[in-house]
Amino acid sequence: MTDYISNSVVQSLIALQEITWFNPRKVRFDQVQSDLSLQMSDMLDASDRLTRFAPYLAQVFPETSATNGIIESELKAIPAMQHALSDSVNLDISGRLLMKCDNQLPIAGSIKARGGIYEVLLHAERLALGNGLLKNSDDYRIFDSEPFRALFSKHQIVVGSTGNLGLSIGIMSAKLGFDVTVHMSSDAREWKKALLRSKGVNVVEHTADYGVAVEQGRQEAMQKDTAYFIDDEDSTSLFLGYSVAALRLQKQLVEQGIVVDKDHPLFVYLPCGVGGAPGGITFGLKQVFGDHVHCFFAEPTHSPCMVLGMETGLHNGISVQELGIDNQTCADGLAVGRPSAFVGPMDGFAAQWCLYGF
Ligand SMILES: *Cc1c(COP(=O)(O)O)cnc(C)c1O
Repeated sequence: MTDYISNSVVQSLIALQEITWFNPRKVRFDQVQSDLSLQMSDMLDASDRLTRFAPYLAQVFPETSATNGIIESELKAIPAMQHALSDSVNLDISGRLLMKCDNQLPIAGSIKARGGIYEVLLHAERLALGNGLLKNSDDYRIFDSEPFRALFSKHQIVVGSTGNLGLSIGIMSAKLGFDVTVHMSSDAREWKKALLRSKGVNVVEHTADYGVAVEQGRQEAMQKDTAYFIDDEDSTSLFLGYSVAALRLQKQLVEQGIVVDKDHPLFVYLPCGVGGAPGGITFGLKQVFGDHVHCFFAEPTHSPCMVLGMETGLHNGISVQELGIDNQTCADGLAVGRPSAFVGPMDGFAAQWCLYGF
């Protein structure tokens, strides 16, 4: 067996223990910022794209009309939770505990409404520009018209999912008129599959877990030139879509009079599956707040793929299943055995965060 088996962190993971893992390679953000493969300008570009699409989204998804087509969630104080946590650890938790209610994001009801919808919009925009249907100066409400739907109906979008990514990709793609197929892993909830079918999405059910569903989707998409595969395991577009949350959060903190600086650090706890969503948000927050923000990724003890990839340095070259860890968890959206191919290895950036198993 390879030598990582004797590693004490890996041993704890195999024993399904809760651990706190601080990245030993963590360095100051300003020392690595300029070397990153993605920059602030990429995040701003994603943000601008979402702004261009906002009038269209407000038109086709009335639940977003109150925010003029910006898909956003509330940031709210949760003092009762703060007290309960203080009591449970017998410690006074200073500062204010806030919850970002991404579970209530419109259209898809999870954090995937950020990255997933963004990547579909990006793809639709590229196709429309490439086929001469769109000019940069156009009002994007023209996406809600027959010529656009006719174009998109000749194109396929394919994705593998444990449920939530499928919902966001499926709903957005179907609305634009794409021929969309979602490969659902065994842990995906029935109601999500039924909802997608009701919207005209092709749902393929798998008896295996997430990794297999993604692989099948990838294979299917490779058969056709007109098919576009949304690769949750290796997508910078998803990542940038998620990163925009940082700009939105910055605005909400200002509105609530919450200062983030050297004397008022911000600690953010992010649920982690493949690492794209928490990675993208961490990337964005670091661009905005530098080292005044500290990001912790939280993973289920039964699916600790990100900490395993980071600790061993093998990243997507290792899965929790290889260690006999079952990847069975009720934590919705986190039943993932192998981390993203690029979030962990994005050196310097990845050295910005810490992990906490639960
Ligand atoms: C997918 C998901 C996550 C984690 O995102 P990854 O990109 O897989 O790390 C967290 N919470 C929920 C509800 C999700 O659906």
